[in-house]
Amino acid sequence: MQHRAEARIDITALTSNISLLKSKSGVNLLAVVKADAYGHGLVEIGLAAQKSGADWLGVALLEEAIALRTHGVRIPILAWMVPPGSDFNLAAQHDIDVAVASILALEEISLISNKPRIHIELDTGMTRGGFLDEWPQLLQADFSKVDVVGVFSHFARADEAGEQQNIDQLNVFNSRVSDLSAIGINPPVKHLANSAATLLDKDSIFDMVRTGIAMYGLTPDFKTMGDSKKLGLKPIMQLRAKLHLVKSVPAGSPVGYGATATTDKETQLGVVAMGYADGIPRIAQGAGIFINGQRAPIIGRVSMDQFVVDLGPESTAQSGDWVIVFGDGSHGEYTADDWGTASLSINYEIVTRIGPRVPRIYAPHVY
Ligand SMILES: *Cc1c(COP(=O)(O)O)cnc(C)c1O
Repeated sequence: MQHRAEARIDITALTSNISLLKSKSGVNLLAVVKADAYGHGLVEIGLAAQKSGADWLGVALLEEAIALRTHGVRIPILAWMVPPGSDFNLAAQHDIDVAVASILALEEISLISNKPRIHIELDTGMTRGGFLDEWPQLLQADFSKVDVVGVFSHFARADEAGEQQNIDQLNVFNSRVSDLSAIGINPPVKHLANSAATLLDKDSIFDMVRTGIAMYGLTPDFKTMGDSKKLGLKPIMQLRAKLHLVKSVPAGSPVGYGATATTDKETQLGVVAMGYADGIPRIAQGAGIFINGQRAPIIGRVSMDQFVVDLGPESTAQSGDWVIVFGDGSHGEYTADDWGTASLSINYEIVTRIGPRVPRIYAPHVY
């Protein structure tokens, strides 16, 4: 079937990014594939990452981990949003490592037979997941029923090189690891660095790095770290859609809901067959599409299934033509960074929210 929109996912770019990140860190790499692999396809990316040399996979949810196992992932998998009340037996049956961030979770998982594998999650200063107030209790806890494979934490500001909070978090991490060692717990897999820290902060690299955004070829923050190209990363997703319609309109035409924009001259408008139901943010302004070597900016509000672009009076674009919504930027097209800025958001949210109506095609990008 012919699609009206598609996300083309270039696995050779994924492989290249994984190689770069592995050589930068020099340690094991956990490929973060939560949230449908940041919108790129959980199982396809999980299997491709395994093939490309990832040593571990990391997800948020237990159901994500189980989907990976049942589709042939053999390398270790860590799931870190598995709250008390979850089916820890099921996790153990599928050989899934679980992050433990509370005494209650430790008590529950300790009821499973055969010493389930856990990673202790530390709150080293982000004040989100991990042990903080319960730390003294954890040091008194019974670890005899679990296999403590890992200890880890997460940075709040890793994209800001030299930021004091990063140094503080690293110091807290080291001190908590010493506390554990003092009670005879020496987890073999200590891990702290995310993508930004892997690229910026050697000191935060322990036995493994957990890379998400950079593996997808996107920069953790183009303002503080530069864009993908500067970092040597290859964006793996190219988002395309068809022009549903092209029409000539006079100056002064009000466009879209609320008539928030009006044509300033006689021009041609293109109706792009994607909308906020597909993950194009409704508030986006200042991004657009790329066709025939030229950018055409959004005009008016994004609708549920469509948005309008100003193709300009000279455009030769026709209804049915493919346009590039975003790509790696190498031909002048908008990037996920541009769409993030246009939506008061970030590239992470742009790719992750591309909706389920948009088929993922595992094939090279096209121009
Ligand atoms: C999402 C996540 C990561 C990956 O972060 P990136 O910035 O995408 O590299 C790593 N660790 C944890 C705990 C996460 O939740």
